[in-house]
Amino acid sequence: MRPEDLLLPTPAGVCCKLGGFHIDPTRPVDKALITHGHSDHARAGHGTVLATQETLDLMRLRYGESFAGAVQAIKYGETVKLGGVKVTFHPAGHVLGSAQVAVEANGLRAVASGDYKNVADPTCAPFELVPCDLFITEATFGLPVFRHGDPDAEIAKLLRSVALFPDRAHLVGAYSLGKAQRVIALIRKAGYERPIYLHGAMQKITHYYQDRGIDLGRIELARGVSKSELAGTITLCPSSTLKEVWSRRFPDPVTCFASGWMRVRARARQHLVELPLVVSDHADWDGLTATITATGASEIWVTHGQEDALVHWSMTQGLRARPLDIVGYGDEDKAGDGEDDQPDGAA
Ligand SMILES: [Zn+2]
Ligand SMILES: [Zn+2]
Repeated sequence: MRPEDLLLPTPAGVCCKLGGFHIDPTRPVDKALITHGHSDHARAGHGTVLATQETLDLMRLRYGESFAGAVQAIKYGETVKLGGVKVTFHPAGHVLGSAQVAVEANGLRAVASGDYKNVADPTCAPFELVPCDLFITEATFGLPVFRHGDPDAEIAKLLRSVALFPDRAHLVGAYSLGKAQRVIALIRKAGYERPIYLHGAMQKITHYYQDRGIDLGRIELARGVSKSELAGTITLCPSSTLKEVWSRRFPDPVTCFASGWMRVRARARQHLVELPLVVSDHADWDGLTATITATGASEIWVTHGQEDALVHWSMTQGLRARPLDIVGYGDEDKAGDGEDDQPDGAA
């Protein structure tokens, strides 16, 4: 059996003919296995969706009750038989509920990672390494220039700035699902105990994280709080709102943006970010290459980002590698752009 007999790239996404399903399909299909709740992976309109409970709940929050014909929840480590294959979900360490999908038949194992990071995150289960023959990796930060560094050091920068400018508000642009909650958890881990304020667009998802037992401390909506009360405070908001009228309710705001792209100074400047914070929910170059090696896979398919460099690197390691070129995966971490396809991003 060859890897292509198990999984096949199609325009609608990676397809498993033997199991009768697609993984993270970009178009409506009969049966979809979804790795995580970001909108480019988790779309509405499929016949049946198999995903973790958290991913199903996040899809329901975003798209409403009728986001799929039928749903089935699967736990990490649980195996289900679909047609002629066995499917197991493993933690991907990307956002709450995120999973890698392992597909097995005739002694061959393929793992579709979805998005992942091999770095500790207080808001989700840690990435689990799954040995496999075929590894499908993302490549959002698939260039050697991307090294994310220590997120705690970035949060320390933010808190130093808050202490330095007690009369100004700090506005932290962050992706609404995952990044915002992780930044809040990292701020709490650093010992900051005052209320943290939120843009309304982040309320539902943040409350869902709290309902699932993620401790985020005292969270309040910025809406309705007076300008003077917001001096010296921290507010999380979608990055697209940093430049909007909305931000004028804050006293002399320091604009911050938490993203892996903040490693690129030109991007921070382009988005008028005063305090860039390099915090990413994706593996950096070292994380991607270390993970590829550790899986022991002899075949690597690269998707979702800067594919060429990682394909080239894999081949220098003696691995078979190819880009998948599937259109439709966005980049939720991109400065300002990723929010646009989120219905709640503009609110
Ligand atoms: Zn994602
Ligand atoms: Zn993604």
